[in-house]
Formats: sequence, C-alpha cells, structure tokens
Amino acid sequence: MDTPALALGSLLHEGKAKRFHATTDPRLCAVEFKDTATASNGRHQVRLPGKGKLNCRISAQLFTLLEQSGLPTHFQGLLGDGWMLVRPLRMIPLEVVLRNRAAGSLLRQLPTVAGQQLEPPLLDLYFKDDALGDPFLSEARLATLNIVTSRERSQLETMARQVNRTLHQVLGKLALDLVDLKLEFGRDASGQLRLADELSPDNCRLWDERQSPDSPGRILDKDRFRQGLGGLVDAYEEINRRIQTLDLKPRRVWL
Ligand code: ADP
Ligand code: UDP
Repeated sequence: MDTPALALGSLLHEGKAKRFHATTDPRLCAVEFKDTATASNGRHQVRLPGKGKLNCRISAQLFTLLEQSGLPTHFQGLLGDGWMLVRPLRMIPLEVVLRNRAAGSLLRQLPTVAGQQLEPPLLDLYFKDDALGDPFLSEARLATLNIVTSRERSQLETMARQVNRTLHQVLGKLALDLVDLKLEFGRDASGQLRLADELSPDNCRLWDERQSPDSPGRILDKDRFRQGLGGLVDAYEEINRRIQTLDLKPRRVWL
C-alpha cells in the first residue's frame, strides 16, 4: 500500500471547469472535473454530461506521459471517474500558450492564415486574471508585474516547449494534430516548478488528421462549443479512445 487512507475535506476553490477539495493529507488536493463548458470568460455556459470525466481521464494520461518523460507535474493519481489527486501549488498567474499552427486569437491579431505552420512554435504569455480578461503580456508588462524572476521565466519557457514537443509528437502518432495549447505552472513546497491545471481538449486545439482539412468534423476540441458545432462530448470521447491506446496506466488512488 503506497498511500495511507485519505478522506475528502472542505471545498477550497470552485473555478469554471473544476472544484478543488482539501484532503486529510495537506500535501494533496482532490480535483473534481465539472460537466460545464464555458466560453467568453464564463459569459456563455452549458452543461455537457460526460465532459468532466473525459477531461479528467485525458489529463491523467497526458500528465503520466510527461512525468515518464521527466517533466515534473502536479499529478498524483486518478481517484475515480472525474476526480484526480494533485499537489496543491502556489500558482504563477500566467497562461503560457504554445502555437504550432495559427488559429483562434492569433488570426485576429496577426496577418496569418488559419492552419499556417509556426516553426519554431510561437510562445505567448498572458496574465491570468478573469477581471482583466487575461491580457496578452509584452516583455515590459511582464517585468512590471514582477511575478517571475528571469531565471524562473526561462525555466518555465523551457518546460512549456518540452511539453509541447512531447505532446505534439505523441498525439501526432494518433493522427491528432496539436494546433495550440495553454499551460499553467506553479511552485511546490520545495520551490520546484511543476506543470499544473489540466491537459484536455478544453485547453488545446486538436484537429483530426483522419478528416479532410475543410471538414468541421476535423475539430475535436472546445472550438466545437465556441463555434456552435455541437458534438463536443463525442469529439472528446474520440480523443480519449485514441489516447487510451497509449496504455500509460496512470497511478490510481482509492479514497
Ligand atoms: P478557472 O480558473 O479558469 O475558472 P478552473 O475551474 O479550471 O478554471 O479552476 C482551476 C483553478 O485552479 C485555476 O485558477 C488554476 O490556476 C488553479 N490550479 C490548477 N492546478 C492547481 C494546483 N495544483 N494547485 C493550486 N491551484 C491550481
Ligand atoms: N486557452 C485556454 N484558456 C484561455 C485562453 C485560451 O485554455 O483562457 C487555450 C485555447 O483553448 C487554445 C489556446 O489556448 O487552445 C490559444 O487560445 P487563443 O489565444 O487562440 O484564444 P481563443 O481563440 O481560444 O480565445
């Protein structure tokens, strides 16, 4: 038995997509993935039964893959359907976005063509602040915020590029084209930077290489909701089916 018996504690935080609960071990938190989909900073919201469980399973597999490749993450184990155990971190309020192809906000901000390959992948930093609408950060704004040292910032970017490289390669073998993704990082009790939050089609764009380039069926991520295409849970099921073939066996913990 590698984990002593654990029990759930109080609700610590409820976000748009997840609830964080304390456990009887202060070094561990239980995360519950919700069945809601939100867009436009939470202004549009719907309930999509089955989504939370799928995002939890997909995230657990991908965190396990990254841990196996030597990257520190907050993942500590799968608890059950839609629940995982993580290390509580002191979060860095940055959204680190990696872009392998042009899509989404980039198309509105730079003269790029949808799907245009970006080599090397573009790394954009945003300030994670709902009230301010998660603004894009220039170098000077990042310096003004004073939330990371230059050493931490370069460590964070190295880790983010490693995550993107690993996921792009592995998902590519499953005919899933990783277009872009958003990452969040935090520091653990010893000060080590770890990848946090979730790794799911809510936070990345994935295009199905088995579908023709112009077909809406190619979109397997949250853009199905943003663009009113429907079929989001079916698309997430398809991603989950392909990722499960990797057979990564995420650690399981019983409460
Ligand atoms: P949002 O903040 O966008 O409403 P969620 O519902 O997904 O999103 O809430 C998750 C929150 O928990 C985010 O603020 C995220 O930064 C934070 N978080 C993610 N992983 C951890 C962690 N290991 N420790 C502490 N906070 C975390
Ligand atoms: N993203 C996210 N949370 C955010 C903003 C963006 O997970 O608050 C993800 C989004 O799903 C996409 C990537 O980050 O995979 C790049 O998003 P973009 O800047 O294109 O913004 P969007 O078009 O999603 O508003």
